[in-house]
Amino acid sequence: MVEVKLEGITKRFGDFEAVKDLTLTIKDGEFLVLLGPSGCGKTTTLRMISGLETPSEGKIYFGDRDVTYLPPKDRNISMVFQSYAVWPHMKVFDNIAFPLRVKKYPEDEITRRVKWAAELLQIESLLDRYPGQLSGGQRQRVAVARAIVVEPDVLLMDEPLSNLDAKLRVAMRAEIKKLQTKLNVTTIYVTHDQVEAMTMGDRIAVMNKGRLLQVGPPTEVYLKPNSLFVATFIGAPEMNILSAAVTEREGLALEGDGFIVPLPEDFRELLLDYIGKDVLLGIRPEHMTVKGVSTLEHVTRTAEIDGIVDFIEALGTDTIVHAKVGGNIIKIKLPGHIPLPVGEKIKIEIDLDNIHIFDRDTEKAII
Ligand code: ATP
Repeated sequence: MVEVKLEGITKRFGDFEAVKDLTLTIKDGEFLVLLGPSGCGKTTTLRMISGLETPSEGKIYFGDRDVTYLPPKDRNISMVFQSYAVWPHMKVFDNIAFPLRVKKYPEDEITRRVKWAAELLQIESLLDRYPGQLSGGQRQRVAVARAIVVEPDVLLMDEPLSNLDAKLRVAMRAEIKKLQTKLNVTTIYVTHDQVEAMTMGDRIAVMNKGRLLQVGPPTEVYLKPNSLFVATFIGAPEMNILSAAVTEREGLALEGDGFIVPLPEDFRELLLDYIGKDVLLGIRPEHMTVKGVSTLEHVTRTAEIDGIVDFIEALGTDTIVHAKVGGNIIKIKLPGHIPLPVGEKIKIEIDLDNIHIFDRDTEKAII
């Protein structure tokens, strides 16, 4: 196990900067998820950590060791990819044994280690098969077993679950997380799936357009996003974003198309520079409720706005109410099955301690 430190990493392909001035420390034994949309530079970052790519600028350290220009074979890392990359002409046993044979381990040690890894991944009964005789999920287990068999200092995973069907993906999510906890191996996991990131990561590093925007534990990134991008990228349904002006109506308020949200006085200091200006108000669907239908739990301060039911999405366990508020459509997530009639006038209650306010220009969070 080692700590992985990225210091001011930039990667250029010609004139294009795929990764821009990235500084990030992944702690010893930590499960860090690199999260972001396609093309944001996650894979490039992972490839630099592995040694498959060298940074244009900056340094990479494993513990105190500068590995920036070290080839992959000298880093004691393992990688698992989206495409399982298991060799079809080799039996499962030989696939898992391959990295040990490269390192010239004695055969009895190879057998011991392959059995150990196969047991952890619950594929002992498949060791004699060829990959062609396995399901996608089993093949991915083989790939993971092959990655851990060398007991790497750092385990790198690039969308390892993307090729699996939805149900298997959920199951494997929990398994990989449990396995990582058991092995306590420093792990960097790339995904564009925010649910995967939320459920697996000790911390999530959110990237966009080559830049690291925020890094923190899942709940922190979820509840305290530092920017509009992070706020809307994480969470489903997405956070509602409404244009509003900060006014001093009856103290302090946010006024937008069809709504006025009175704000507590303790918001004033943070909003001083914004009085009379437009901002963006963000409210997650679960931080609102429909009055008289459902209640917000553990909430002390609320505001109320009027809406009209526009559409109902019944998800079984939850209901998403689409409400018209002025010219906006707001999504409200309610627990259970709530068959509100379309066109019904409703009072929407907002949890004021969970609203977000963003600067319109910089898109950074003010609150
Ligand atoms: P995805 O989830 O789609 O793999 P990503 O976040 O992992 O996306 P990267 O693969 O790191 O993104 O790519 C970041 C950007 O760098 C993309 O615009 C990509 O086209 C570009 N890029 C990556 N590798 C190269 C290369 N070898 N030459 C030129 N451009 C590249």
